[in-house]
Amino acid sequence: MPDAPVEGMPRRDFLAATLAATGGLAAGMTATPADAAGAQPTDPVKAGPTVRDIPGQFTLTQSMPPATRGGHYVANRAPLQPVPFQKLPPGAIEPRGWLAHQLDLQVHGLCGRYDEISDFLDYSTNGWVDPAKGAWEELPYWLRGLGDLGYVTSDAAVLSKAERWIHGILATQAADGWFGPERLRTSLENGPDFWPGMPLLAAFRSWYEYSGDERVIPFMTRYLQFQNTQPAEVFNRSWGAFRWGDNIDSAYWLYNRTGDAWLLDLVHKMHAGSADYTDGIPTWHNVNLAQGFREPLQYGLLARNEKYRAATYGNYSTIMGLYGQFPGGGFAGDENSRPGFGDPRQGFETCGIVELMHTFELLTRFTGDTDWTDRCEELAFNSLPASYDPRQQVMHYITCANSVQLDDTVKHGQFQNGFAMQAYKYGVHQYRCCPHNYGMGWPYYAQELWLATTDNGLAASMYAASKVTAKVGPGSGTEVSVVQETEYPFDETITFTVQAPHSTRFPFYLRVPGWASEFSVAINSTRTSAKAQGGWIRLDRTWHPGDRVQLVLPMRVTTRTWTENQNTISVDRGPLTYSLAIDERYEMIGGTDDWPELAVYPESPWNYGLVTDTGGLPGAGRGVGDGAAVGGGVGDGGLGGRGVGDGGLGGRGVGDGGLGGRGVGDGGMGGRGFEVVRRKVADGADPFTREGTPVELKARGRRIVEWETDSEDVVGLLQASPARSDQPVEDVTLIPMGAARLRISSFPTVAPDGTQWRRRTRVTASHVNDGDSLEAADDGRDPVSSADQSIPRFTWWDRRGTTEWIEYDLRESREISQASVYWFDDTGSGQCRVPSSWRVLWLDGDSWRPVDQPTQYGVLPDAFNTVRFAPVQAQRLRVEAVLRQTFSGGIFSLRFS
Ligand SMILES: [Zn+2]
Repeated sequence: MPDAPVEGMPRRDFLAATLAATGGLAAGMTATPADAAGAQPTDPVKAGPTVRDIPGQFTLTQSMPPATRGGHYVANRAPLQPVPFQKLPPGAIEPRGWLAHQLDLQVHGLCGRYDEISDFLDYSTNGWVDPAKGAWEELPYWLRGLGDLGYVTSDAAVLSKAERWIHGILATQAADGWFGPERLRTSLENGPDFWPGMPLLAAFRSWYEYSGDERVIPFMTRYLQFQNTQPAEVFNRSWGAFRWGDNIDSAYWLYNRTGDAWLLDLVHKMHAGSADYTDGIPTWHNVNLAQGFREPLQYGLLARNEKYRAATYGNYSTIMGLYGQFPGGGFAGDENSRPGFGDPRQGFETCGIVELMHTFELLTRFTGDTDWTDRCEELAFNSLPASYDPRQQVMHYITCANSVQLDDTVKHGQFQNGFAMQAYKYGVHQYRCCPHNYGMGWPYYAQELWLATTDNGLAASMYAASKVTAKVGPGSGTEVSVVQETEYPFDETITFTVQAPHSTRFPFYLRVPGWASEFSVAINSTRTSAKAQGGWIRLDRTWHPGDRVQLVLPMRVTTRTWTENQNTISVDRGPLTYSLAIDERYEMIGGTDDWPELAVYPESPWNYGLVTDTGGLPGAGRGVGDGAAVGGGVGDGGLGGRGVGDGGLGGRGVGDGGLGGRGVGDGGMGGRGFEVVRRKVADGADPFTREGTPVELKARGRRIVEWETDSEDVVGLLQASPARSDQPVEDVTLIPMGAARLRISSFPTVAPDGTQWRRRTRVTASHVNDGDSLEAADDGRDPVSSADQSIPRFTWWDRRGTTEWIEYDLRESREISQASVYWFDDTGSGQCRVPSSWRVLWLDGDSWRPVDQPTQYGVLPDAFNTVRFAPVQAQRLRVEAVLRQTFSGGIFSLRFS
């Protein structure tokens, strides 16, 4: 649910009122003088280990900054463990290119104007500025994103709006340090609800870093002193219990500026009193996890015990191992992650997307581990843009890797919530948390593109066109700017230009993404290149005004196989995953012409499996290299040119050379048979739209006719790959996931001798519990007992003592003489029981008739209850159950034969 207690607030009709109007340089490096601008073929020179010293030019080392207390920005104060990176203040980084475009959409779209829409953001009725009134997490969520949106865009309207709220809230602090709604002091078991204050502390920190407002430090000090007076039990209540990592980050921030030792006592108290992420996973709520799994590592900066770091790494592996088995960077968490709900048609809450991005940003700074940075980019590029419509005026609650219709109806079989979660809407009360919270996503991301380093340098951590201005170099430092020009992630070349008042020496770090098997770096006219496996490269030299650095990260088409999800595959090129291009029809379902709420329907087939087994077939492996960024030549050594892709099982692509010219498919099932197509798009086009994406892939697929939507118009559950298909091979177009609002990005594979998929039964029922699944009765999964909690079930909860039914439409008339039911019964923990009686009905013309001559209708738990009866020729059948008095009931499996 949108997280929680609803305080009574009048619903304002906004439409009428307002809007109607680390890894490695391996051996085999080459150092090559060349023209950094591109094009000059060069002679590769074999070179040695991981350090390249090019006399008089620069030194390149594979290393990250040391974790020390040095640097020009605020470092961790002892006894906190030092970390390698420091965040630059808001305003230091100016986003450009597509990122500036996304932020501009945000300024003029849902985030920048949400106060015109959301009654939770009405200044005159809001408890955060008038403590006698009520309020909860919505304003804190929104203000956190709005403020940082203003700082990174300098938009005057956004800035003045954010400032008004910040001034208003700062003025509410009580003598004991509490601020905001008085009723939140006692709203949790008579104690305070600290959760909604946590996003506000982040908002105040950004405001302080941006403005230097002297009220912030004493304000936060008084508030955290108030927290420090609280008994241990208040730290383990409600949503806050799982999210104290946020508050710990604010306590460290304050400690690093004031040195108040009691703040560390408070951190111990927060850690000890809150949910325990160190010894396992205490919650399966997706947003809790996105914020909370990092808490041990954060606490470990104080506690200095390796087990805390290991716990965060372990938590992430556990979550993704169980629920992250599809592309996009998130995990299946439609409210909670649930056993049995891991198909890529599950999705990730928008709050989860932006909170997990923030977690990855923090973990990058704390650990220097570029795996976290890669993960942030994966989420940002592949999931976040699809969470809103192409104009960013409306958004939805859940974004899925496989999703073929975004409508405004409840999906019992897919999602846990009892409200519709897919249409793009304002969602003030329907989606509630997400539209208020999503605004932090891009502004925070923009501020983490560049990081200060402890050795007085600069690091390009994530790549996007931007300009950074920061202090670097020895002593009190020199303020320099670096302009980053790139279309990354749609292009593999990134150019940096140094702007400085005079020459100065400082280390310049570049991240090498884990997907890049090689890279090349040129400084002015000197190029060097190497194989790579992630990590950082350090360029050390005296930098002169106008120096140019060019980084090339060759992007090849590769595939990932999801063995835990029916051996589906997803197709990647660099940090982008590619989705089937489905024609999208947008239908206005509410709002106004200027601000429409939208459902999205498919207008072209989507049920394709990809042809990967092309070995030996004529015309197979038609790989085409895509653009030689630098250099030329063909060869398989070093980096001079790896133009020939080795397609494993027979597909071989031929690239056209050079660094950047990549063959198709290198390794295993790899990228055989994919062709990279560069599209001409309008200047300034939004690359996260179908029209504006500059890169497409061509692939080959066959339709799988048995793969259909289910009875609630949700893409059907995957079955085993390779799937059997006798449909013709077709050319299909793949576009970046982030540009696709309807998408198939976990593909079955197809083969003539593959598994025959089953056409899905259409299941309907007299009632189904919002948290359970219609499809569960026919999903092929059998329980270990009637109380099994590990697989999806169908229940009639909370109907009790009534007569209910569940119906199968078999899609064709068949002779049926037997039904088998495995009842759900959670005696001991719930209120479902086997029914008191049941019977089988079949549809005869227009009439439902009971079957004749049934054997016994069994009601045993922990077993299939099979009834045989006189054969009927039927397409539609029902089980009708009389529920036991005061109890409800449900079914794990129902089969007719
Ligand atoms: Zn949310």
